[in-house]
Amino acid sequence: MAGSGENNPFEIAQRQVDIAAKILGLDDGMREFLKHPKRELTVNFPVRMDDGNYKMFQGYRVQFNMSRGPCKGGIRYHPDVSLDEVRALAAWMTWKCAVMKLPYGGAKGGIICDPKHMSKGELERMTRRFASEIAPIIGPEKDVPAPDVYTDSQTMAWIMDTFSVLKGYSVPGVVTGKPLAIGGSEGRGEATGRGCMIATREAAKRQNLKLKGATVAVQGFGNAGTVAAYLMERELGTKTIAISDSQGAIFNKNGMVVQKVMDYKAKNGSVVGFPGSQKMSNKELLETECDVLVPAALENQITKENARNIRAKISAEAANGPTTPEADEVLFKNKITVLPDILANAGGVTVSYFEWVQDLQGYFWTEADVNAKLDQVMTSSYKAVADLAEKHGVNNRTGAYLLSIDRVAEATRLRGFYP
Ligand code: NAD
Repeated sequence: MAGSGENNPFEIAQRQVDIAAKILGLDDGMREFLKHPKRELTVNFPVRMDDGNYKMFQGYRVQFNMSRGPCKGGIRYHPDVSLDEVRALAAWMTWKCAVMKLPYGGAKGGIICDPKHMSKGELERMTRRFASEIAPIIGPEKDVPAPDVYTDSQTMAWIMDTFSVLKGYSVPGVVTGKPLAIGGSEGRGEATGRGCMIATREAAKRQNLKLKGATVAVQGFGNAGTVAAYLMERELGTKTIAISDSQGAIFNKNGMVVQKVMDYKAKNGSVVGFPGSQKMSNKELLETECDVLVPAALENQITKENARNIRAKISAEAANGPTTPEADEVLFKNKITVLPDILANAGGVTVSYFEWVQDLQGYFWTEADVNAKLDQVMTSSYKAVADLAEKHGVNNRTGAYLLSIDRVAEATRLRGFYP
């Protein structure tokens, strides 16, 4: 996933800071501070595989910035995980929490592994060992992990249990995205997609785009992508015409019922072959004419090579880092509204914050409470970003960076540099 040169996600994350820092007039010292991770932990550890042999794995936890509170960020399992990718994701978590005004800094973790070819037992042993390796730097007041690509509520349950065993008592607030039975929150499972739907709804309102019957194309049909498409269909009345996963893409100009595609994928392992659909390439999916494009897979999908061909009115970034800075410029010139990742997919971390608050209080909210509070935070954050972008004549991404970097810089200035 981590490209080199212009597509290196960490270099992109640093360039994004530069763009906003220049407009904000931050001095060089503050700018450099905001471009570098505070703490990086690399761990190498053995895991007993099902065949009885031991295999070494490498994992990372990067705590990018904690000026505004404990670090927060997911853990990713993927063969292409790299330290630079984790650094970029940790930086984005910092800005994302600040955009949403959550009292958190940003972190991210990952293990280089191929979860699709590991048994449940191997995944559990790898997760528990990794959790014990990073235990010294995580905790409810320090750093609170959550799920990301190819990790889920079960992964979080194993981490919570391992951390609790080490402490000698239950510590539900050490991770979010847990199952409900052990301190998870109502609404967390669908929060990222719900937040993406709310941001899209607000952006459409602002530009007078009618969403009833509007067409949607979704790249990546995992947690974020399925829920975004499902809720856009159910709550906004959109029509999903194109969907992809790692096996390929499908298209039906009349629209596909999202729930039916989810059921088909659950049974067949992929969306490809869904009855009534035509197969298309991932490239064609991104370039499909539609009202709303939802990149919900991986980084660097919309680049200077294909940005010119994007024909959506809104690109709602459920994924982290799907658009390169060069592509951003093209999309802005072509008047395509981008709802940047640090806003559009921030519903997940927002409900993670609600989960952590509930764990610390030992008092749990209803799903309706959670959804209503998420709607409030998402709607006001969208407005703050769009207003700032309009005021400075910049795209929404820069608007979101102006808002978040200013907040982190203010916290840093108030705290001062030690010693
Ligand atoms: P997931 O593992 O549930 O789903 C990923 C999906 O992407 C799968 O359907 C996979 O088949 C598909 N995919 C992989 N490579 C692809 C390719 N080349 N083309 C098309 N599809 C491809 O992961 P997720 O949790 O939905 O995360 C997806 C993105 O959303 C990531 O960038 C993640 O960082 C971001 N995100 C997720 C959450 C969350 O709460 N789940 C929160 C914020 C951001």
